[in-house]
Amino acid sequence: MRALQLPDWKSDPKLVEVDQPEPGPGEVVVKIGGSGACHSDLHLMHDFEGEELPWSPPFTLGHENAGWVDTVGDGVSAVEVGQAVAVYGPWGCGRCPRCRVGVENYCENPEAAPIPGGGGGLGLDGGMAEFMLVPHERLLVPLPDGLEPAVAAPLSDAGLTPYHAIRRSLPRLLPNTHTVAIGLGGLGHVGVQMLSAMSATTIIAVDLKEEALAGAEADGAHVTILSDDGAAEEIMTATGGKGADLVLDFVGADPTIGLAMSVVRPMGEVTVVGIGGGTFEWAFMGVPYESSLANTYWGTRPELIEVLNLGARGLIRPRTTTFSLDDAVGAYEQLDAGDLDGRAVIVP
Ligand code: NAD
Ligand code: ZN
Ligand code: ZN
Repeated sequence: MRALQLPDWKSDPKLVEVDQPEPGPGEVVVKIGGSGACHSDLHLMHDFEGEELPWSPPFTLGHENAGWVDTVGDGVSAVEVGQAVAVYGPWGCGRCPRCRVGVENYCENPEAAPIPGGGGGLGLDGGMAEFMLVPHERLLVPLPDGLEPAVAAPLSDAGLTPYHAIRRSLPRLLPNTHTVAIGLGGLGHVGVQMLSAMSATTIIAVDLKEEALAGAEADGAHVTILSDDGAAEEIMTATGGKGADLVLDFVGADPTIGLAMSVVRPMGEVTVVGIGGGTFEWAFMGVPYESSLANTYWGTRPELIEVLNLGARGLIRPRTTTFSLDDAVGAYEQLDAGDLDGRAVIVP
């Protein structure tokens, strides 16, 4: 079968011919119906040298996947051949206390996972191929009625990651609060839809691109602000001078973390989701009292079930452009150039 692989660090992806996977005991092969192209894959292609991560290329890209169960190994009973499923992406050991409650994104024993700190498309073969091997049935979530794999695929990362970041702060998103979302691409535009669907907070959306701001307005943002030198002041004005209760940074570069920390209010939260390599120098007198700064990684298995529910009910609708496997390289080029609206989904 054909697969889009990352051949090495600091290299471009390549369409190659590989063997079709066969499930061993307890494993499942999924026929891919959609595989999203995440900006993290661009970091893998361009930013990493090899020492930062406990795994290495070559492997098939694509870590946000959905499709249909194709073949199952001995002992698999939780899914049936032909069933539509989303693949839960952060593969943990499955046995530690956190994995047992579905928090595999923060597995306590990554050495016992299929690959430490990775998963399909992150060290092991992912979904930018006709078929993908999933090492355990617990990592598959049946799709609710009405949700097609090509629509569900981006929900497993571009949906799940902002959902996890928002859900941890949800109790504070009451009326008379302000939430800033910076970076309105694949993750951020779904994040705005989720804030709109799940909370009464006033949503302030920030991006470098006018088109992304127009999209965010359609997604439920109440205020949109261009990410330039005047952005902090505009955000402060939009919050009535109080500052933001929550800032979600879907970029994670120096300027965006700096912007986030300059507009968060006392007792507010900044959650950095983007992996843009930014740093921030914390000082007692340099940040608002009781403000907190956290990073989040992906989401939990139960949260993926909740995200799929939001998708099936039409409460979130990721904007996607579909590409064939032949055009997958071009999809990443468009993502890199900032030419995409929402998410690119590869449909083999
Ligand atoms: P994307 O390319 O689809 O979107 C990025 C958006 O940010 C674009 O709209 C771009 O215009 C905007 N942007 C860039 N610089 C900006 C700035 N200075 N100010 C305001 N807006 C700016 O990317 P994506 O797939 O949504 O991923 C976003 C980031 O999240 C990436 O760094 C990715 O690696 C990371 N990510 C993290 C996790 C996690 O678990 N923490 C999961 C998935 C992706
Ligand atoms: Zn991703
Ligand atoms: Zn674990």
